[in-house]
Amino acid sequence: MALAPFAFQRCIRPACGTTCGPEEVRTACPKCGDLLDVLYDWDRARPPKSLRYFEQMWSRRHEPLRLSGIYRFHELLPFATADSVVTVGEGQTLLQQSDPVGQFIGLKGGRLYLQYEGLNPSGSFKDNGMSAAFTHARAIGAKRAACASTGNTSASLAMYCAATRLMKAVIFIGSGKISYGKLSQALDFGALTIQIAGDFDDAMVRVQEVCRDLGMYLVNSVNPFRLEGQKSIMFRVLEALHWEVPDWIVVPGGNLGNSSAFGKAFVELKLLGLIDRLPRLAVINAAGADTLFELYEKRGLRWNAGRPDTSIVDRYYAELDQSGRKASTIASAIEINRPVNLNKCLRALEDMNGVVRQVTDQEILDAKAKIAAGGFGCEPASAASVAGARLLCDQGIIGPDERVVCILTGHQLKDPTATVAYHTTDQEQFNKVLGSRGVRRASFANRAVALPNDLGEIVKAIQLYS
Ligand SMILES: *Cc1c(COP(=O)(O)O)cnc(C)c1O
Ligand SMILES: [Zn+2]
Repeated sequence: MALAPFAFQRCIRPACGTTCGPEEVRTACPKCGDLLDVLYDWDRARPPKSLRYFEQMWSRRHEPLRLSGIYRFHELLPFATADSVVTVGEGQTLLQQSDPVGQFIGLKGGRLYLQYEGLNPSGSFKDNGMSAAFTHARAIGAKRAACASTGNTSASLAMYCAATRLMKAVIFIGSGKISYGKLSQALDFGALTIQIAGDFDDAMVRVQEVCRDLGMYLVNSVNPFRLEGQKSIMFRVLEALHWEVPDWIVVPGGNLGNSSAFGKAFVELKLLGLIDRLPRLAVINAAGADTLFELYEKRGLRWNAGRPDTSIVDRYYAELDQSGRKASTIASAIEINRPVNLNKCLRALEDMNGVVRQVTDQEILDAKAKIAAGGFGCEPASAASVAGARLLCDQGIIGPDERVVCILTGHQLKDPTATVAYHTTDQEQFNKVLGSRGVRRASFANRAVALPNDLGEIVKAIQLYS
């Protein structure tokens, strides 16, 4: 049996509490329809007594299980037996202190850390969850997997299918909504790529119907096993901070799988006595896809210990339908108006004393340029974390002395179109790609210098500009 006998799935609503076995393929509670958690009988799972236990895993990097940045922490997500996990060596990511970016945010020196999840094999944090979903899919013998995607989930799914040959990939994307970097990956890895007339929210509805009718394995983050893998991002952050808990985790919010997984990770670590406090959580929406901000900060929606007022959500979605408003932001990875993990994220916000903010595309692109100028780069959605941290510093909610970790979710090369348009001198291109998004200026543009092919002119220019 590849799945652990002490793992089970349970409805996130305490009042419902319906449970099912780890071998069941579900994306919702069979009784009330809310989301499911993967949980463990920890007495039987026997996790380590200290996080320092994981330090010895570094000396076992020749074992695929311990090379993986996810399964190095297998004891904290033990739903499958150690010999049955699927890994391609994901999770070799970095936590780097960055003073230039910290200064931009308004933090004192040594206080800002950037977690570069773009260094995963398919270039985004999605590999953390995909590896866990594949482990589950293999255990239950799935043959085909599907997802709806703004791009990175599909790139990750396609990569795992190509690299492991365990399943065939079917990908649903909205038309014209996916960046070239991501689309090129899905095609190159050989996935069946279906572009439907509609946006991500439309594709999400369709893929669930298709999976139900054809019995395909759904790897979107409504799949609770995905989030188990994504917990490991926080384990690596703690590892890099030598097991000290930071003050803030700041993360962009799209479907809200990451924020949900982070909350679960910290709650479990506290429950197991492995940490003594939780960091605060800041989830950052793009202003053009601000459902969580609207519901949480403006309309007062709360998890409320498992009894959220769902009429607030229903009313808001009905308003969206009536006005025909669709999500719209240059940060395509978070261009989502109906986040599937909303309730889990509300729970994480309650557990981590969280806040939600929204930032404009202008703020996102300016932050993105600052991040890249400070070292490694990221894609637009990722920069929402830094733009959001800056806003929270401005508002005095994050103090200049606090230790802040911003999650950079995707690689710089995922969306070159946005980056080149930002730095371009071609006003027409700028307007076409960014002006339509309300971006007026490129405050931190690094423009190419056009010169005649003449040694004297070139030497003069170098002396002038450097
Ligand atoms: C998927 C994705 C997000 C959004 O994460 P959620 O877990 O859906 O909130 C943010 N940034 C990038 C680069 C992504 O690929
Ligand atoms: Zn239920």
